[in-house]
Amino acid sequence: MSYQVSPIGYVRSCFKEKFAIPRQPHLAPAAQGVLELCAPFDGGDAVQGLEQVSHVWLLFLFHQALEDKPRLKVRPPRLGGNRSIGVFATRATHRPNGIGQSVVRLDRVESGRLWLSGIDLLDGTPVLDVKPYVPYADSVADAHNHIAAAAPVRIDVLWQDSALESARAHALRLGEPLVELIEQCLAQDPRPAYQQPTPERRYGARLWDVDVQWHYPQPGCIRVLDVTLP
Ligand code: SAM
Repeated sequence: MSYQVSPIGYVRSCFKEKFAIPRQPHLAPAAQGVLELCAPFDGGDAVQGLEQVSHVWLLFLFHQALEDKPRLKVRPPRLGGNRSIGVFATRATHRPNGIGQSVVRLDRVESGRLWLSGIDLLDGTPVLDVKPYVPYADSVADAHNHIAAAAPVRIDVLWQDSALESARAHALRLGEPLVELIEQCLAQDPRPAYQQPTPERRYGARLWDVDVQWHYPQPGCIRVLDVTLP
């Protein structure tokens, strides 16, 4: 038997490509986006009361990782990308039905829009449902997960003076906390764990409408080199 679902809206996000998106929500509080609701959910009725809630669950589609054949085992970045584990033991993007879930901060409610932060979602992500976070039920004090026991260790993020100046100027233009966003995302060390970077190698990702470039001057440390419009 099969069932059909359709998106209730789409996320407009600071993340324009998969690379450098944090691997879970909350890791970059400055990561902001807007859920644009589709008809018939965009008239105000469907979100009435939601202003009393600080966080919401988003159920969404990993629309850029959908596959016909389900994988039973995956190699999550958390395990260095070279050890495989059962798909249901992970939060990997390649999964049956391609469904993701994130608890994110709800900053503002408008009739057809939800303003969100701490997101880990790509621009254009189709959202299937929104539910209020219920602290007494959703926060489990004695829970454990020995595969992902704690948030990933953050690495140092340094700036080339000109890059910081440029990031501050773009932050003003965009009206977004761009400097914090860059620092929070790069502190997660987006590089695949199996890649040993040399100082000569440049990495890049697009955040909002700017291209951010960085390198690893030494292991465990990133320096932002450029923040430019494409
Ligand atoms: N919090 C969610 C969960 O547990 O289901 C997502 C976890 S998943 C490991 C996070 C990664 O999904 C991000 O780093 C990003 O690269 C990827 N991602 C986010 N939105 C996506 C989308 N719409 N399609 C494909 N990949 C996406």
